[in-house]
Amino acid sequence: MSERSWSLSGVFRSVFGGAEKISDDTWDDLETALISADFGPDLTDEILEELRREVDLQHLTDAKDLRQLLRDLISDRLAAFDPTLKLSDRPAVVLVVGVNGEGKTTTIGKLANYLRTFDKRVLVGAADTFRAAAVEQLATWAERAGADIVKPQQQGQDPASVAFQTVERAQAEGHDIVLIDTAGRLQTKGGLMDELAKVRRVIEKQAPIAEVLLVLDATTGQNGLAQAEAFIEHAGVTGLVLTKLDGSAKGGFVLAVQQSTGLPIKLVGQGEGIVDLTGFTPNVFAQQLVG
Ligand code: GDP
Ligand code: GDP
Ligand code: MG
Repeated sequence: MSERSWSLSGVFRSVFGGAEKISDDTWDDLETALISADFGPDLTDEILEELRREVDLQHLTDAKDLRQLLRDLISDRLAAFDPTLKLSDRPAVVLVVGVNGEGKTTTIGKLANYLRTFDKRVLVGAADTFRAAAVEQLATWAERAGADIVKPQQQGQDPASVAFQTVERAQAEGHDIVLIDTAGRLQTKGGLMDELAKVRRVIEKQAPIAEVLLVLDATTGQNGLAQAEAFIEHAGVTGLVLTKLDGSAKGGFVLAVQQSTGLPIKLVGQGEGIVDLTGFTPNVFAQQLVG
């Protein structure tokens, strides 16, 4: 992971920066830091309680030991979920869903590019047929990544039929991975969920769906969670992609979202460039977050 784009640890610098011994101030500062990093009130309480218990149990007095405890606690909690993408089907069909503007199309471009570096043959499907610009945006990413693309024949074409044609072509031409982009109009939530259900049904006539990835913008914090619920309930989500973690001080959202959804984070977006996507490694993340 590139260091430059992570400003996550800044929030704990004020807690552990100067202090050598654990004091009441340390605990107060830690609480403030956890809240401001978007761990959410419940998780913040849980973490503080657990840390206090360990500090008592182990008779710790040094702030640096508390910092290590926090790092380990975060890492352990994150590691309770399996972050591996399941892409062994041929083709492995990945459906990408989420609210508008959170980074679905960009993530598909980055993921296609990443998979191409392993010589995987990637086909993307432009099933966001709502706006012509959405198709062109995906086409630009596909070209940069060296992936093939299936576009709708006309604007507004049934997304399910684009998905169908994409999987059909992958099977005929032997692509390894199919990445299907979808529309994310929040205002038509009911309709969108029906549309997604239909896309799923039509794909599953041809091939099992390997992953349904829900893309979440980390900067939306706790609000993003509420928006995600409809997708989690209706779209059969198998994993999360957290975007825009670059320059975000809201790294705690990562834990909060995993804990409250019970879903693993499988990919992390940390910039607008084609290489700004990584897998998710709990101990690396904990180190970057806590410093
Ligand atoms: P979609 O509507 O869900 O398909 O979202 P897009 O992929 O079109 O992305 C919306 C905006 O977010 C674009 O301006 C992207 O460049 C930007 N974006 C996506 N992922 C990231 C990320 O990881 N970091 C940053 N900084 N911007 C991102
Ligand atoms: P329904 O519209 O809810 O009855 O769902 P269907 O399962 O009939 O299919 C939904 C969409 O997927 C259709 O509008 C078709 O465009 C597309 N589709 C389904 N089956 C096929 C097929 O065998 N060939 C093609 N080309 N498209 C299909
Ligand atoms: Mg899009």
